[in-house]
Amino acid sequence: MSHLMSTYARLPVAFSHGDGSWVTDSDGKVYLDALSGIAVNTLGHNHPALVAAIAAQAGRLLHSSNLYQIPQQEQLADKLAVLSGMDEIFFCNSGCEANEAAIKLARLYGHQQGVDSPATIVMEKAFHGRTMATLSATGNRKAQAGFEPLVAGFVRVPYNDLDAIRAIARYNKNIVAVMLEIVQGEGGIHSADIDFQRGLRALCDDREWLLICDEVQCGMGRTGSWFAFQHAGIRPDVVTLAKGLGGGVPIGACLVAGQATGLFQPGKHGSTFGGNQLATTAALTTIEVIERDGLIANAVAVGALIREGLAQALAGCQGLLEIRGQGLMIGIELDRACAELVTLGLDAGLLINVTADKVVRLLPPLTFSADEGRELVSRLAKLIRDFLAAA
Ligand SMILES: *Cc1c(COP(=O)(O)O)cnc(C)c1O
Repeated sequence: MSHLMSTYARLPVAFSHGDGSWVTDSDGKVYLDALSGIAVNTLGHNHPALVAAIAAQAGRLLHSSNLYQIPQQEQLADKLAVLSGMDEIFFCNSGCEANEAAIKLARLYGHQQGVDSPATIVMEKAFHGRTMATLSATGNRKAQAGFEPLVAGFVRVPYNDLDAIRAIARYNKNIVAVMLEIVQGEGGIHSADIDFQRGLRALCDDREWLLICDEVQCGMGRTGSWFAFQHAGIRPDVVTLAKGLGGGVPIGACLVAGQATGLFQPGKHGSTFGGNQLATTAALTTIEVIERDGLIANAVAVGALIREGLAQALAGCQGLLEIRGQGLMIGIELDRACAELVTLGLDAGLLINVTADKVVRLLPPLTFSADEGRELVSRLAKLIRDFLAAA
């Protein structure tokens, strides 16, 4: 009997090593990795620059705690501020922690505005994490079931529905923030419309609400810009990051600008591990390589190649509903539940994911080459065709 808590229904494979977009299992079988550990391994596996930077830092100092100055953390904050246009950054270790910080900030902000019971508008199908507050913000009843009472202070609306938010603004005086993923990941790769984002920005300005963008999955270059909100030319008040930020080393961040700055003072928030020397070195190196190797442009080009390739290869396929996404964040929606495709993918030497029951989700490393894109299209199109034909 396993001594692991049964939080995951794990696939029957363990990987021993990886190289670029390829990983090898304990039997020596090689797989094309179109998932990158759920958008984490930004630079693929065993990237020489990342390996060297982590090894060198490990040989000097792993961790000192935030009781002391951490120059790498300050450098990373400077870099992220330049890339995002945000002003101040708090470092933690994961996406849910980054979102917890954002939710706490919204409450502090609300109280400062004289709202006694501040509430945040959140979206249907949203995913913000598994801690009590982020689970309460998540729009998935199955994930929440059994954990009641949930944390109060969230009001849910349909995604991309500005009128629904305006309607709430008219009667609910407790709203102080709106929180959303610019591209919903777990919810099935749904993008916020550009007009919706701009309208929401204007509404938040008008109402003095904080606009919080959870870019834990869609940030760090994945959609073809450093941050997904940049496609709409808006600046949020709060942005959260994690997954791809450290290239595989756990690190999260909560970025704030404008009216959301200066809210936390010493004693209000913290993290023992957050932003330690190892994690911030890994993130700095990940960003350096993304810049040096033009990986955001690569995400645009190879993402388009994959979507177009799949559209061609699956043309006329009964049961295919939509191929969508931005950059290297791609969803293929079928008309039926298709979790089975993950196991069929393993047999075919391909790592993919299925989310929201019917959506094949692709999150390859940003280093994915055009040839690897074509290989992915050829393996995946065959899988999907056979799957849909067999049913
Ligand atoms: C994965 C994810 C989270 C949670 O991140 P953890 O590191 O698992 O806590 C939060 N928000 C979004 C959008 C995510 O994709």
